Amino acid sequence: MTTFADEMPEPWVRALADHIEAGGWGLADAHESAIAVHLGDTARGALGAADTDRYLVIGWSAAGADWGLAASRGHVPHPQLLPGDTPVQLAAAVGRLMRTGRAEPREIRHAVPYGAPGEACTCERITACRGLIPDADCPEHGDRRNPAMTWHWEALCPPGA
Ligand SMILES: [Zn+2]
Ligand SMILES: [Zn+2]
Repeated sequence: MTTFADEMPEPWVRALADHIEAGGWGLADAHESAIAVHLGDTARGALGAADTDRYLVIGWSAAGADWGLAASRGHVPHPQLLPGDTPVQLAAAVGRLMRTGRAEPREIRHAVPYGAPGEACTCERITACRGLIPDADCPEHGDRRNPAMTWHWEALCPPGA
């Protein structure tokens, strides 16, 4: 059980930073009170980042870990809860945020069609894997169709190309 505080011990920060980097994300900064992760194009799209946002900043206080989008490494205007307790759990939540824009996993499958979806497609698009969540009424991927697609769980969604 992690006891959170405004400043965390260096080994804990290093462990969290290492797990985030192991997920393929680039760090801009890591110190006792925050970690800043560079936003790539996939993450910017998934998170709906503003043009001025440069970083996903992970911070912490006695209430737990939090995250927010920021133009600079030091100031996060609207921090939100980052679910998790250990560096492994928190790094997994960071990966979900960067790929899907959500910190909590949904138990849902992504379908990746072999061909690009057409204009008529009404499915929810997933930017990270170029997949979709089939809409039962979609004329291309709905219940009455059975197109060739590969499937994976959202929790296992590969990072964007
Ligand atoms: Zn569709
Ligand atoms: Zn996916």
